[in-house]
Amino acid sequence: MALRIRGFNGAQRRAIAVSRSMIARRLGEPPCPVPRDLCEELEAILSARRPVVDVAYGGDGDGRRTPYARSAGYRILLYGRAFPPRGGGAARLAPILFHELIHIARGWELDAEAFENAWFTPQEGARPPTPEDWTIFKAQRYRGWWVRLQPRTRRVTDYADRLVVTFPFSPSKGGARWQNPR
Ligand SMILES: [Zn+2]
Repeated sequence: MALRIRGFNGAQRRAIAVSRSMIARRLGEPPCPVPRDLCEELEAILSARRPVVDVAYGGDGDGRRTPYARSAGYRILLYGRAFPPRGGGAARLAPILFHELIHIARGWELDAEAFENAWFTPQEGARPPTPEDWTIFKAQRYRGWWVRLQPRTRRVTDYADRLVVTFPFSPSKGGARWQNPR
């Protein structure tokens, strides 16, 4: 495998291994249409010798608020809050890791959010787009590298027009307009 894991404790390494195999299993039978080149990129990252992706521990923030994760180039930083609490399951990490892998495979924010929410349930730790995410979607004209978003219906489709996911209703997104059409 070409994920190079650095700086984590044993429980965190196990959570990463479980998450990685969840992602690999779903890649074998994707829960939604996935463009072929994205599949190939993800398979290469998980299974081929190249590219090598560094996955490093970003720390716990020392009391300051951190993101769950961030990525740049071929490097992913996972922060303490991405990991399940002591005794919790390992599943919470999988959608976070998957989201960053989509970015590594050159996905934009809309791609990462769409496939994260199509592949993982909220119970598994997927998080629907936040108001900040919606701001990014809008600035990027509701497009990603592989998908586009119809903001009124919240449907995300790939460029072959196949449905990937429908985002849940976001009340902070001018939602009153839809609730009370005038
Ligand atoms: Zn992202």
